[in-house]
Amino acid sequence: MMQNLSEPFFLSPSVYHKSLLKDLKPALAFGTRPGDAAAHQKTVRKKFAELIACDPAVRPAELPWRSIARKRCPWGAIEKIVYRSADYCDVPAFLCLPDHPVSDTVFICLQGHSGDGMHVSISADPENWDMEKPAAGDRDFALGCLKRGIAAFCIEQSCFGERLEKVQEKKASGFCHDAAVQALMLGKTLMGERVYDIARGIDFLKARPETSHAKIGIMGNSGGGTVAVYSAALLPEIDFCMPSCSFGGYADSKMAVYQCACGYIPGILKYLEMDDVMACFAPKPLVVVAGKEDPIIPLKSVLPAFERVKAVYAAMGAEAHCHLVIGGEGHRFYADEAWQAMLPEVLHG
Ligand SMILES: [Zn+2]
Repeated sequence: MMQNLSEPFFLSPSVYHKSLLKDLKPALAFGTRPGDAAAHQKTVRKKFAELIACDPAVRPAELPWRSIARKRCPWGAIEKIVYRSADYCDVPAFLCLPDHPVSDTVFICLQGHSGDGMHVSISADPENWDMEKPAAGDRDFALGCLKRGIAAFCIEQSCFGERLEKVQEKKASGFCHDAAVQALMLGKTLMGERVYDIARGIDFLKARPETSHAKIGIMGNSGGGTVAVYSAALLPEIDFCMPSCSFGGYADSKMAVYQCACGYIPGILKYLEMDDVMACFAPKPLVVVAGKEDPIIPLKSVLPAFERVKAVYAAMGAEAHCHLVIGGEGHRFYADEAWQAMLPEVLHG
């Protein structure tokens, strides 16, 4: 039987999607599964690896790599290297070793969307790394590590810096659109590819005598922080995680705020929210950094998600290792506040 529609009509796709989201309960959420959190982590990790199409447990024994150049900075030595993550997929990186280490720990440093990529982490001009190019918002992650006596490993992520798409002649504005949608057609995701590059970066760190026995931390801002969360969930080698302006509930961030296509994972909300992925890292030390005025990862998406992660830490007797740091500004890193929470974990871990 025909029915008359009354106005206003629903013509917005996002309003339609929001209505679907309202009733969607992730099937593997920790909150819905009382019981052994460690056992549930295994289930979540397996499903998450499947959803981002990345199985970092399967990787070659060989890791081809090459040293490119070295330089000094006031707090230590910086070496540029390139390693082969997969065939036809090479990854530049900086290995930064402090003159006065306080701990046998190396932090993997990941920038967000940036044409300058990993050079931001050492405050250097990508055209000439001897030229200083100051990084705004404490994004000089590697220098921040070296100043505190911590080694750093800055990985150039796919689509940023030296890995910006240059072959594709016509491309959408921004950094990742073409690569992100190509990956989807291949049954992959760009986030999964980035996590795999981190896994291969860890293979490099294990192969180098200076870092072969080091504990491994991972930190990043924005899209780099998201890769930090996903890597921490899937890679058992990671001991510390410090994501900045990247962790929050998908419903109030990815599903509400316009973001780059590279961060979307097909079907994930049917099974997992971001806190479920993050909770896979418990009970290891976690410092979530947020910006009070961050418009991309709004605080209202961070607070309830963090509470859910903290509940998993508490269930594992590790609430004291789950920290939230809220900076007073927007979408940036807050080095002093973040390291104040993380450094004691590194020193006593
Ligand atoms: Zn992107």
